Amino acid sequence: MHQIDIELVEMTLDVMKYVINRITNLSPELGSPKKEEELKKLVGETITPEGIGSEKAFKLFRDVLVKATVPIDHPRHLAFVPAAPTRAAIMFDLVTSASSIHGAYWMEGAGGIFCENEAMKWLVSLTGMPEPAFGVFTSGGTAANLSAMVTAREHWRKNVANLNEKGLILTSIGAHSSIKTMAKVIDADVLLVDTEDLMTEAMLREKINELDVQQRKRLFAVVATGGTTNAGIIDDLDGIADLCHKEKLWFHVDAAYGGGALVADSARHLFKGIEKADSVTIDPHKWMFSPYDCGAIIYKNPELAKEAHSQEGSYLDIFKDEGAQGFNPADYQIQLTRRLRGMPLWFSLAMHGTDKYKWAVERGIELAHMAGNLIARLPHVELVRAPSLSCVLFKRKGWSPNEYKEWTFKNHRKGFALVTPTQWKSGSSYETVARFCFINPDTTEDDIKAILDTMA
Ligand SMILES: *Cc1c(COP(=O)(O)O)cnc(C)c1O
Repeated sequence: MHQIDIELVEMTLDVMKYVINRITNLSPELGSPKKEEELKKLVGETITPEGIGSEKAFKLFRDVLVKATVPIDHPRHLAFVPAAPTRAAIMFDLVTSASSIHGAYWMEGAGGIFCENEAMKWLVSLTGMPEPAFGVFTSGGTAANLSAMVTAREHWRKNVANLNEKGLILTSIGAHSSIKTMAKVIDADVLLVDTEDLMTEAMLREKINELDVQQRKRLFAVVATGGTTNAGIIDDLDGIADLCHKEKLWFHVDAAYGGGALVADSARHLFKGIEKADSVTIDPHKWMFSPYDCGAIIYKNPELAKEAHSQEGSYLDIFKDEGAQGFNPADYQIQLTRRLRGMPLWFSLAMHGTDKYKWAVERGIELAHMAGNLIARLPHVELVRAPSLSCVLFKRKGWSPNEYKEWTFKNHRKGFALVTPTQWKSGSSYETVARFCFINPDTTEDDIKAILDTMA
C-alpha cells in the first residue's frame, strides 16, 4: 500500500503542476495532428499487463500526445466554433470528476443536480421563456437537438395528429448539420428553405404552402437557428413563432452557438420571439465558457419531454420512491447515466457573476466588428457580408479555393493560427471564403491584424 500512496501523491503533483501551467498559459502551443503510426512509434506500447506507471504515461501525454492536439482556447484559433473555458470552470470540472456523482436521478445526485439547476434557471431566464419552462444539460447541441426532436415527434403522434406516419421537419440550409443527421436517427424527413441568410416567416409560409396534402399531414416541427454556425445569422424567430403557433407546429430554436449572445445587451433584441419556442438548444461549451462537453436543452413544457424520455425498468423503480423525490435529469433527454456537466458552469457563474459573462460575450461581438473594420480598410481583402454575432465572412481578392486551403495549412503548420475557409451561398452558387469566429475574450486586434497580414 505504501508504494501506491507515494505514486498517488507524485501523480497528483504532476497533474496539478500540469493543470496550473496549462490554465495560466494564455498562448498555449498550437499543436497539429500526426499520423497514428507516427504517434505509435513515438509512444510505444502503453497498455501492458503490468502497467507502465503514472510518471511514464503522464510524460508521454505531456511531451508527445498533447502536442498533436489543437487547443480550442488559443487566441488565434478562430476556426469552426472555438471555445474558451474559464479557469474556474476547468478547475471545477476536476472537482466534478473527483466527486463521483451519478447525475441521472435526484436520489443519488441531489446536491450536484441542485447546482446544475441553478445554472439552468439562469439560462432559462436569458430566453425569457415563461414558467414552467426548464431544461437539462446534455453532451452537446447534437444531443440537445435530438432530445427536442424526439419530444416533438412523440407529442405530435400522441396529442396533435394521432398519426403514426413518418414525420417531416422544416428548416433552412443555414441550419446546422446535426439537424439532418438527428432527423435520420428518428427516421424523419427534412425539407430545407433555400436560404443561408435569415429565414423569414414569409419564406417558411411559402414552403408550407408548397407541401402536398400528405406532406402537410406529416409536418410536425420547424427548426429555426439562433445564430447560424457558418455566419452567425439569426432567423426571424418572432414571425416564425407566430406561424408555428397558427399551424400547430413544434417550434425549435437551435441556438447552440448563438445562445451565448442572449446575455449581451447589444444582441439580445435579435432573438425576439425565442421566448415563444417549444424548445431551445444552447451549448455552454461554445459561447458560455464551459469545458467540453456541455450542451443544454430547454423546454417550454418539460412534462412533454418527460413523456418522451422517461425510462422504465424494474431496476429504476426505486428512483421514483418517496425519499428520492426531486428533479431527475434522465427524464428529459436521451441519456441515462450522465456526468453532472452543468456543475463547472454553475461554479464559474457563482464565482464570477453573470456580468462577467456579459462582458466576455460582448468582447467576442466587438472583436468581430474590429475585424470587419480592418477588412473594410485593407486593400487585399473584402467583406462578404457585415459581421453577425461573432462571425466574419470575408474574401482574399483573387484567391482560388486551393489558395485558401494552403493558407490555412501554412498558418497551422507554423503553429501561428487556425483559421479555416468555408463556403457561402449567394444566389445559386457557393463560393469559398475565409471565416473568423470569435469566442476567446483574450484575442486582440493585433492577433487579427497579424492573421490578415498572412493573406497579403
Ligand atoms: C455546434 C452546433 C451544433 C452541434 O453542437 P455539438 O455541441 O457540436 O453537438 C448544433 N447546432 C448549431 C447551430 C451549432 O452551432
